[in-house]
Amino acid sequence: MNNSDLLNVAKEFGSPVYVYDSEKITSQYQRLTSAFKNVKNLKLNYAVKALSNVAILKLMNSLGSGLDTVSLQEVQLGLMADFKPEDIIFTPNGVSLEEIEEVAKLGVQINIDNLSILEQFGARNPKIPVCIRINPHVMAGGNSNISVGHIDSKFGISIHQIPHILRIVENTGMRVNGIHMHTGSDILDIEVFLYASEILFETAKNFHDLEFIDFGSGFKVPYKEGDIETNVEELGKKLTKRFNAFCKEFGRDLTLAFEPGKFLVSEAGFFLAKVNVVKQTTSTVFAGIDSGFNHLIRPMLYNSYHRIYNISNPKGKERFYSIVGYICETDTFGSNRRINEISEGDILCFKNAGAYCFSMASNYNSRFRPPEVLWHQGKAHLIRKGETFNDLINNLVEPDIPEINKKELVKEA
Ligand SMILES: *Cc1c(COP(=O)(O)O)cnc(C)c1O
Repeated sequence: MNNSDLLNVAKEFGSPVYVYDSEKITSQYQRLTSAFKNVKNLKLNYAVKALSNVAILKLMNSLGSGLDTVSLQEVQLGLMADFKPEDIIFTPNGVSLEEIEEVAKLGVQINIDNLSILEQFGARNPKIPVCIRINPHVMAGGNSNISVGHIDSKFGISIHQIPHILRIVENTGMRVNGIHMHTGSDILDIEVFLYASEILFETAKNFHDLEFIDFGSGFKVPYKEGDIETNVEELGKKLTKRFNAFCKEFGRDLTLAFEPGKFLVSEAGFFLAKVNVVKQTTSTVFAGIDSGFNHLIRPMLYNSYHRIYNISNPKGKERFYSIVGYICETDTFGSNRRINEISEGDILCFKNAGAYCFSMASNYNSRFRPPEVLWHQGKAHLIRKGETFNDLINNLVEPDIPEINKKELVKEA
């Protein structure tokens, strides 16, 4: 997608708007599959929570992907996108036994991440095979809020509790067909990842019904110019070698699974917003846009960096700006950014807006969530309408409390 394509989308669908490039999603998917081409059985399960529009899920389906889900609702969206239940894995954390059983009834692969649920689920459903989420206690990933494999993490069952897992499996007669880890986002050190993988291989030897080993995700994508990203080609080479050797040792071919979210969709997404106000203060020049952290919360939530371009004036002189949103509290997308000169009415483009952007959007400040557009083979396709006032009030219920319903009373007081 080039600048004028993006400008045309903003013109046609208004601003703010999310745009996703199907070609980039496809090439990332293919990059990962080709990095692991020497694994006999490879399964990529796209992590739905990154970007859950059903059109995106259908695109993933057409590429041959499975799905990684964390709620019953994500499973339902996956089924809407024509995924077979067996191509969906359910990897929740801290959800109720009832929800897990409801998902299991649909035929979806269950991944269990605590001993209490494992014991209850196994006792009630000994015939349903489960995957077990292991916490290898390896610290991978940059930001402590998104690093989930370390010792204090709430995720997974500790490797030190394997004997307890085995006791539950034996006593319930349940079958463990997969083991899983997800050590966190933004993995840069492949050796650390491989070290965690060794722990998983060691664990795998305990489970004779094993069909797959799921290595989670956490592939880092570039955000800034010159950012390093996970070298998936090198990881592919090294892990493939180790995995194939392990299968031989284990005595049969297992499936190697991953569940990438960000890697597949982050760079495919663009968020377009219009500059409402340019405000010169004593310390900086603010460009205030027609959006805020209600639409893209990552910079405020975990300090993530999104490159910002002025696509209305790509050849303009570069100046320093702070890009801010309209939410009535601190709402900064980027400070001290060198951007081509901005005029009111210009369209700014935020990069890396595919993962955890729309899916984290809210109606805060009673604003509408923006529309989503899929750019496919040179054409823009609307895949979600922008909200209207009706969406904000749809679920409101007027209580039968005369005191607050009677305008006259309020006036008298
Ligand atoms: C969020 C999540 C993912 C996806 O992580 P990315 O960093 O977006 O690739 C994968 N697996 C599980 C269990 C997750 O919770």
